[in-house]
Amino acid sequence: MARIETLPVRVGDSLVIGGGHPIAVQTMCNTHTSDIEATVAQTLELAAAGAQLVRITVPGRQDVPCIAQIKERVRAAGCGVPLVADIHFSSETAIAVASVVEKVRINPGNFHPDHGEARRQFARFLEVCKQHGTAVRVGLNHGSLGRYITDRYGNTPHAMAMAAMEWLEMCIEAEFYNVVVSLKASNTVVMVEAYRELARRMQERGVVFPMHLGVTEAGGGDSGRIKSCVGIASLLQEGIGDTIRVSLTEPPVQELPVAQYLARTGGQPLPDGLDEKTTAVLDAAVAWGPKLLKREIDEIPDRAGLSEYLKDEIMQAARRRFYKPEYIACPGCGRTMYNLQETFEEVQRRTAHLKGMVIAVMGCIVNGPGEMADADWGYVGEGGGKVTIYHKSEPVLRHIPDSEAIDRLLALIEAAEQ
Ligand code: SF4
Repeated sequence: MARIETLPVRVGDSLVIGGGHPIAVQTMCNTHTSDIEATVAQTLELAAAGAQLVRITVPGRQDVPCIAQIKERVRAAGCGVPLVADIHFSSETAIAVASVVEKVRINPGNFHPDHGEARRQFARFLEVCKQHGTAVRVGLNHGSLGRYITDRYGNTPHAMAMAAMEWLEMCIEAEFYNVVVSLKASNTVVMVEAYRELARRMQERGVVFPMHLGVTEAGGGDSGRIKSCVGIASLLQEGIGDTIRVSLTEPPVQELPVAQYLARTGGQPLPDGLDEKTTAVLDAAVAWGPKLLKREIDEIPDRAGLSEYLKDEIMQAARRRFYKPEYIACPGCGRTMYNLQETFEEVQRRTAHLKGMVIAVMGCIVNGPGEMADADWGYVGEGGGKVTIYHKSEPVLRHIPDSEAIDRLLALIEAAEQ
């Protein structure tokens, strides 16, 4: 299907997203932004591996000079990859960094608990971006929409699309069109429905901003790759999507071949870094996942020749049948203060028997709790070697040393199951 026509968004000198340009592939550093050396090295590594945009978290005003230095050093190394500052909660940080990097990702809904004030802060932010030619991503995630929206529409795909439309309408009013929009969820059905409604609403409005696709907190390994492929490929097959990020709880360079695989158009060769086994997994996910998700089929037919394991994984990614726990795990970023990948793998090993349960492992206490709203149980790193355990969005154990946290989580689950 032909891609939906979207506005072209210029990001720095070298990249245009949307407007019929090839789908851009991006990822995000998981180094601490204050560790300039490590972040420069990872940015260069990611750009060399084909990332066309590299996102870096900027947790507060104090990190703005760090990203400025990172940019300077990346450019001095001869690398022109545009940098995206990832901002949560702080409009002042977003405004301060808008003159430094090529693009800023924000969730304007969390700028301020008072919706009117959040709107005023967003308007000021757009002014600064306009002055500096900075691109913006309005990046809303399921689970962190804010009371203003959920009180009206619930925590639904419709609520996500309506929230995005409000902020996009403000961009149109401000005559600021250098905007990309995303509506990520870890639930592939929610994510696909939200983007579809958003695309339809933007078309009805007559202004279609380019869309950044991603399945957030997809986890890692085959499951994370399959979940990402099912969600992203479903939308790409409908002509929706101008840039993609595959989020994996693994080193970010490992996300790129999967994103490059999805961004290919007919006839393009397979990306480097994909072995035969992984390619077969991705092929199967893309061939069958969207059909299951769209309910065109109820089972993967035997003629597909897939193993039972792969069938189960694809069925679960499309949310048609659950054969194991559902894991929500963020990819980690500069806010993560512990070994997320190792912890996630151990949690998976020790909870593999809890079929159907939703278990989250999140890198930070700032965003983690909001973004794992669907989880039955959550393991959230606080920093300083401490962990908070959540049950159904409520913290039930705080400040647990991380050496004990998985045992305590399992004990709580066991007690609740009896
Ligand atoms: S939840 Fe994970 S990816 Fe999101 S900000 Fe926190 S550490 Fe980073």
